[in-house]
Amino acid sequence: MSLWKYADRLPVEPLVTLEEGETPLIRSAKLPGDTWLKFEGANPTGSFKDRGMTVAVSAAMAEGAEAVICASTGNTAASAAAYAARAGLRCAVIVPDGKIATGKLAQALMHGADVIALRGNFDQALALVRELTDRHPIALVNSLNEFRIEGQKTAAFEVCDQLGGAPDTLCIPVGNAGNITAYWRGFQEYNASPHLHGYQAEGAAPLVKGEPVENPETVASAIRIGNPARWEEAMNAVTASRGEIRAVSDAEILDAYRRLAAEGIFCEPASAASVAGMLKYGSEGTTVCVLTGHGLKDPTTAIANAQPVVPCEPSLEALEKVVLR
Ligand SMILES: *Cc1c(COP(=O)(O)O)cnc(C)c1O
Repeated sequence: MSLWKYADRLPVEPLVTLEEGETPLIRSAKLPGDTWLKFEGANPTGSFKDRGMTVAVSAAMAEGAEAVICASTGNTAASAAAYAARAGLRCAVIVPDGKIATGKLAQALMHGADVIALRGNFDQALALVRELTDRHPIALVNSLNEFRIEGQKTAAFEVCDQLGGAPDTLCIPVGNAGNITAYWRGFQEYNASPHLHGYQAEGAAPLVKGEPVENPETVASAIRIGNPARWEEAMNAVTASRGEIRAVSDAEILDAYRRLAAEGIFCEPASAASVAGMLKYGSEGTTVCVLTGHGLKDPTTAIANAQPVVPCEPSLEALEKVVLR
């Protein structure tokens, strides 16, 4: 089974799939309230991007494309590379130089994508690939691509099916704002209308500030975006759902990140913004926090924010000392 069980609500045939979707909805054992965690790290490449990519690359295949391209903070690159490999298409990914998490880079390279490190930020990368794809017959698989949104909306269907009804509140990290747009579309198609609570990182919070951020900065690299492509749709989703869009600090994000790990759930920092926001601003009723990507994506941030490894001499005495301490 995969998200293609909703094929009658999707615009193309499943030509390219890695059995994405159908991710766990886990009830939190430690967070306050009736709180559920939609663990999108369980997708084939470890993030929700696979939901959109299976549909976008299927559409590219149907249209006879030979290559796909994207600008990416990392997970779109990893996902595009995997689905392009699966489809036998060429793939180029444009990432901000030095700003992409190690796991994501390893994925894109292993799947054979041309990884291009742009000496600039994500927003500049996206502007350039938009121009490039206007001029050349290469499929753009950023979340500007409507097929991406169509695939990603299936997460809202799943949440409702798994809970046996719509949640009261859905908390979600917001970067380029494709995913919050997709969830709202999905909920509407399901006649559900939870409050959507979108959270941005304080150093990359254009939707909260009401203006683009020129040099976005945050530990949560997946949402380090200063000028979201789906700005208006995201704000419409927030308004129509009587939700909110707020900012959380890096310290709050990392605190939520560690709290989740302490109950056995390892997500990446950007994902923890959903929980950080819920803890900071509260939520109503049954609440689902979307955990957008797997913690293994960014081992560097994990190791920098965990307790140190304990050194030990090779003797029983020394081992007892450290184990039984
Ligand atoms: C892409 C991504 C986001 C942000 O999603 P948008 O659709 O850009 O708002 C959040 N978390 C992770 C892990 C991502 O990969």
